[in-house]
Parts: sequence; structure tokens; C-alpha cells
Amino acid sequence: MSAAVRNLRIGLIPGDGIGKEVLTSGRQVLEALQSPSLKFSFLPLSAGWGTFKSTGTALPDSTVDALKAECDAALFGAVSSPSTKVPGYTSPIVALRKKMDLYANVRPVKSVRGVKGPQVDMVIVRENTEDLYVKEERSYDTPEGKVAEAIKRISEKASRRIGKIAFEIAVQRAQVRAANRSEHPTGPMVTITHKSNVLSQSDGLFRESVRAVFDADRTGKGLYSKVNLEEQIVDSMVYKLFRNPEHYDVVVAPNLYGDILSDGAAALVGSLGLVPSANVGDGFVIGEPCHGSAPDIEGLGIANPVATIRSVGTMLEFMGLGEQAARIYQAVDANLEEGKTLSPDLGGKAKTEEVVQDILRRL
Ligand code: ATP
Ligand code: MG
Repeated sequence: MSAAVRNLRIGLIPGDGIGKEVLTSGRQVLEALQSPSLKFSFLPLSAGWGTFKSTGTALPDSTVDALKAECDAALFGAVSSPSTKVPGYTSPIVALRKKMDLYANVRPVKSVRGVKGPQVDMVIVRENTEDLYVKEERSYDTPEGKVAEAIKRISEKASRRIGKIAFEIAVQRAQVRAANRSEHPTGPMVTITHKSNVLSQSDGLFRESVRAVFDADRTGKGLYSKVNLEEQIVDSMVYKLFRNPEHYDVVVAPNLYGDILSDGAAALVGSLGLVPSANVGDGFVIGEPCHGSAPDIEGLGIANPVATIRSVGTMLEFMGLGEQAARIYQAVDANLEEGKTLSPDLGGKAKTEEVVQDILRRL
């Protein structure tokens, strides 16, 4: 009897700038992972600033419809956003996260082993649908001048589900480490980041909701019993993240703090070009490198493909293909640890394609 073949269709949304270049690398890695029981097919889809300029919308309905109806998952490159407000333009990735209810942004940040400096190995779990990103702003004139306000919306529902993802990732990471006989300096741990000393209602609700998930588990199945829970006010978190990044395992944060912390954490490991992410919902995942469209290096063929290749791994993990994901991570780690075929952002001379070929060779 032959085992069932898994046919997976992956939407490819290159976007703008280096998005196109790095997405090609992601596709090459998926093609290399195919086996008699695992097949990938690809559906190119459009979104971004270029799409806006040619069609008047940055995220065509056809893209969202095709993702929902035809794809099992997707890869997103990067999009350029105009620095000043352009009427009618909104960021397609922010809209896509909302339309597909991809409520968690999961960002693994890991140092290259052997390179001088702290050995960071953490995952930032960023809430993706609310907080200041509801973009409900208004401005008005007063006798003293103009005033502007923005709504920071936090809900119990969104905070609980992001908390649940964070605890599950902590449990899963602990299992992988146990299998590899490796350890994390502080063991399985979830750090809740907030500013509830100032924002007692909004950030207070985030904090209480994540805690409630943990407490409910203790009185329930107890799956999280090996996970330590700690809290940290976001400003002291930044200080500690830079002083002692090895301390962190899984960090869970509302949208804006999560965004800021993950760019900071990317700086600790050497380049934005190394950090992957996954936009995760119930039943769909979009892999996306953390970096932007990097217009300064567009078209030069030197973009670092590692963030995208690792994003393929993170995407596969959420599709239940942990074994394939581990192969990708190992191949990337081996490339980085050897340090001979590196792109210019890491001090090397290799072109994007040479880095990809080196990683494919190790797969
Ligand atoms: P965007 O508005 O799309 O975010 P940006 O100008 O902010 O564009 P980023 O993509 O965020 O650019 O990148 C910031 C810096 O990091 C740039 O100098 C860019 O060249 C560099 N960079 C980002 N991603 C990569 C990558 N994959 N490989 C090499 N360098 C990168
Ligand atoms: Mg940027």
C-alpha cells in the first residue's frame, strides 16, 4: 500500500523591492523538499505598492479570494509603503492579516552559533489584529492648537488566543530541545510584556487574559505545567533584552510592543535579513521575512534570502511539517556557522543565488 501523497498549494505574494528576489529563494527550497509523498504547487498572487500603482488597490480581492479558496498556505515577500499618506492606499499585509484573521505574528530570533556575542534563541509572539493597529485616529483643532488621538484597542478574546499560541510554542520548543538534548538557559518560559502600570485597563486586560489561559490550564489538563510564566514592563524589557537576551524563550506582546521588540531583537542577531516570521490563524499561515522591501539594494541580487528561507520553515511547522522545517533550519544554521557563503549584510560577498545554492546543497 502506498502512503497518501500530500499535495500542498502555496500562494506566492512577492510584493515590491527585494520581495521578489527573496520569494524565488523560498520557492526553490520548497521545490527541493518535495518527495514522493509531499508535493508543492505554486500560485503567484499580487499585492503591494506596485499593484496599487497599476490597479488602484494594494490588495486585490482576487488575491484574498484565491488564498482562501485555492491555497493551503502562502509566502509573502515585502511591500514598500509610501512614507506620507496616499489616498486609498493601506498596507496590504496589515489588511491581509485582518481579512484572513491571522491573529498571531510569530518571530523566531536566533543567533548564529559560534559567533561572538550573546546566544539569543527566542520567539516573539506578537498579537496581530488590534492594539494601535486598529488605526482609528482623529485630529481636531483646539484653542491651544491641533490635537491628535489614536485608539488602542485590546480585547479579552484576542489576548487569550495569542496567549494560548505562546504557551503552545513554549511547550513545543521544550519538546524539541528535549529530543535534541539541548537546554535553554532559563528553561521553558513565557514572558508577558505590557505597560499595565500606566495603561491599567488596556494592557491590564492583555496581561490578565494571558494569565487566565495559564491558570485555566493548571486547573485543566496541565499541559503548560513545565512552563514558567513571568511578566515584564515593556521599557524594562527593552533594557533586559539588550543586556541579557539569552534570558528569553517565548515573549508574548500586544501588537505595537511586539513590533518594536522584534526589530530590536533582530539587531541583536546581526541582520534583519536573518529573521523570519509567520502570520498564523486557525487553519492558515503566511510565512513572511521580517525585513521590508529594502529599496536601497533592490535589483542588485545581494538580498539575504535566509529570513525568507527560515520563514518557509516556520510556515511548514504550522502546517504540521516539523520534520521538513527542522531540515531547513539545520541547513541554514550550517551555512551560517561555516560562514563562507554569506551575503553582504553579514559581511560576505555572496549573491542571493549563491547563498540559496549553498543551503540547498545542505538540505
Ligand atoms: P520598507 O519601507 O519596505 O520597510 P526600508 O527602507 O525600511 O523599507 P528594510 O527592508 O526595512 O528597508 O531594511 C532596512 C535596512 O536593512 C536596509 O538598509 C536594507 O538594505 C537592509 N536589509 C533588509 N532586509 C535585508 C535583506 N534580506 N538582505 C540584506 N539587507 C537587508
Ligand atoms: Mg523597514
